Amino acid sequence: MAEQNLFEEVKRHLCSCSADLQITPNLEAVMKMPMRELHVSIPVRMDDGSIRAFSGFRVQYNDALGPTKGGIRFHPDETIDTIRGLAAIMTWKCALHNLPLGGAKGGVICNPKTMSSGEIERLSRAYIQATSHFIGPDRDIPAPDVYTDSEVMAWMMDEYSRIFRKTTFGVITGKPVSLGGSEGREDATARGGWFVIREAAKDFGIVLEGAKVAIQGFGNVGAHAAIIGQEQYSVRVVAVSDSRGGVFAREGLDVPALLEHKKKTGSVMDFPDARNITNEELLALDVDILIPAALENVITIDNASRVKARFIAEFANGPVSGDADALLHARGVPILPDILCNGGGVIVSYLEMVQNFNLDHWERGEVIARLERKMVDAYRAVYNLASGNNVPMRQAGYTIAVGRVVKAMKYRGWV
Ligand code: GLU
Repeated sequence: MAEQNLFEEVKRHLCSCSADLQITPNLEAVMKMPMRELHVSIPVRMDDGSIRAFSGFRVQYNDALGPTKGGIRFHPDETIDTIRGLAAIMTWKCALHNLPLGGAKGGVICNPKTMSSGEIERLSRAYIQATSHFIGPDRDIPAPDVYTDSEVMAWMMDEYSRIFRKTTFGVITGKPVSLGGSEGREDATARGGWFVIREAAKDFGIVLEGAKVAIQGFGNVGAHAAIIGQEQYSVRVVAVSDSRGGVFAREGLDVPALLEHKKKTGSVMDFPDARNITNEELLALDVDILIPAALENVITIDNASRVKARFIAEFANGPVSGDADALLHARGVPILPDILCNGGGVIVSYLEMVQNFNLDHWERGEVIARLERKMVDAYRAVYNLASGNNVPMRQAGYTIAVGRVVKAMKYRGWV
């Protein structure tokens, strides 16, 4: 298996648009480095009384367009280079969606699946204690990501507010709706992704009603992708998987029943009326749309030739490696890239910030309407550039996004 380094992959995507944007090697070198990063060691008292030191990071990649924005992940396989790559992706994602925000990402190496709720709370608070001088509502605003949720955001907001002795909703997004959170944030990534798929389906001649969809990952994004796909677009969700494995049913899975099953058993596997499959088998299914909604680098040069989907929608960050990307493009399989397709999360995070700054609370319909407009605008810009220049949509997305960041750096007089 080819070892992939997400940061190296993302830097290669950046190079793909340098010529079009006439970016000099020196300027490219500036953009290939995060502007700031913080490494912390976080001591946490565990339930058995012992103290464990966790390694944590926060990377602020580029803040030319505004305060940096991006989630915090809790994951056992976290590395600083993954966080750097994800922080870079956030920079291009915010720029592509025309948000006045830069990009950042944070992470802690830990396995929340083996930790109690109390241990996770103490770790979340300790992460904020260790980073409170580095983040802030007009500096760097974290959010949920893999294995962190609205409860973790509430603890983090509370800890920050205690340190600075004033309730500071705007320091973090993805909070519970009753505590400064926005309506529609929970399923925003999946909903936004479906707006992009809906538009792309028109351009690629795919009828969504009855279309076969496979979803890799059944966390917040994957599960909402399945629900919204079935309820709003009448697609047939034929397969889903989680970290343990997947399930397949030719006629389509009963998504609400599957959610119940996962809640009860901890996995989607062994779901009645469905066949167990592996994650690898899921990626190779003969479907119309393949939605990777879990981790980075799952479609690589080793398995890309087996992908039979008509198009791929990247709901995860970085799920298709650079080599696989080139191979799939050559085979004519369009990829709706992460910076376009999963921007719904950060768009509604931005809307949450705007509400927090104004101590306001918008209705769900208003949030969703604004999300839809942003997703459709970004898709149209990417599709038009990609089809006009005959380049992959990822390259088109990077060209638009990097161009905006470069322009901001020039106006600021940095370069
Ligand atoms: N973690 C999400 C992402 O990767 C959302 C980030 C945010 O809302 O700031 O896009």
